[in-house]
Amino acid sequence: MGGRNHSERVIGGTPEEQRLAMEELQGVFDETDPKLVGYEVEKSTDEKAMIEKVEAIVDEMVEKWGGDPKPVPLKKIQVLKPGAVDATSDGSYGGRGVHKPLRANIGVERTGSRVGFGSVLAHELFHLKSYKSAQIDKWTKEVDLYRSGFSMIDRKNPPGEFGKKREYFSDLEEGIVAECANRFFDRMKSEPLFEKEMAANEKIKQWVLNACRRREMPKEKLRILEREWKYIPDAEKYAQQIESFSEVETEREDFAWGTFSYLYENNKVEIRERYSQRNRLYQLCDEICAKSGGRFVDSEAVFNEFAKANFTGNYLTIGRVVDGALGKGSFRRLAEETSGDPRNNDARKP
Ligand SMILES: [Zn+2]
Repeated sequence: MGGRNHSERVIGGTPEEQRLAMEELQGVFDETDPKLVGYEVEKSTDEKAMIEKVEAIVDEMVEKWGGDPKPVPLKKIQVLKPGAVDATSDGSYGGRGVHKPLRANIGVERTGSRVGFGSVLAHELFHLKSYKSAQIDKWTKEVDLYRSGFSMIDRKNPPGEFGKKREYFSDLEEGIVAECANRFFDRMKSEPLFEKEMAANEKIKQWVLNACRRREMPKEKLRILEREWKYIPDAEKYAQQIESFSEVETEREDFAWGTFSYLYENNKVEIRERYSQRNRLYQLCDEICAKSGGRFVDSEAVFNEFAKANFTGNYLTIGRVVDGALGKGSFRRLAEETSGDPRNNDARKP
């Protein structure tokens, strides 16, 4: 199939075991995810164009954060029938995209929205293009994921949980990826493949926000709606309907509000993904910025350090930043506080 698997290195085991592990990783890299094959549909010309564009933008962004993005063969980005992600992940994820870090495989469900397809794909690509390394399990000798971006899988034998693996920083990694996907989303506004739908979506968003302001929605609620709005399906159709409904702007706003409310009640409004993980990251960046003694001009500068660590795999700088601002041992504590069971992340929803 061509290309090298994405793991930078294998840790643990003997040199010979490491060589065999690399061969095994190359083997799974050279095949598509067999679990998803039954749900795969043939990619349309349009989907192929979107995949090519989205990957190019993601790579460019990853490079800006110091990463070394590896190509993902087209065959390994599988377009799936709607509902496939739930069907192949015990129904517990509820997302439309899935990625396998060691396999370097992505599945994205087909949707009527280009913006929806592109943004889910970008999210999963940011996971894949994060720093990767593998490990040989000390007891079972199996090849396992060690690092995926900011996260690290380890057996730390916590009391009473002998041999249980933990994924340290897993919530933080998810927050970083979701925030990168957020920035990608905003960039879609100026991409020819997505700009028409993005413009229609933005129009509806502004009508709805204006309607909310006239209804004196509390400022905090308004701020969250503005920040977390992603898109509504069929935005171009709805924008046309709203425009032809009236020439009067306030009437358009009210009509847009009615449309939005209806779609929201029917779970059709897409909001930005991973709210709690991103919020945690925002708070952390704010706190570090405030306590950094002027080292960082703003929270954005702190976020850039987290993103750099995610894509280069280097914990050293960010560890010093965290401990320097929040006190010795804070980085270690953060690893625990944002950890999870790696099995829960076998398939990640966006
Ligand atoms: Zn994710």
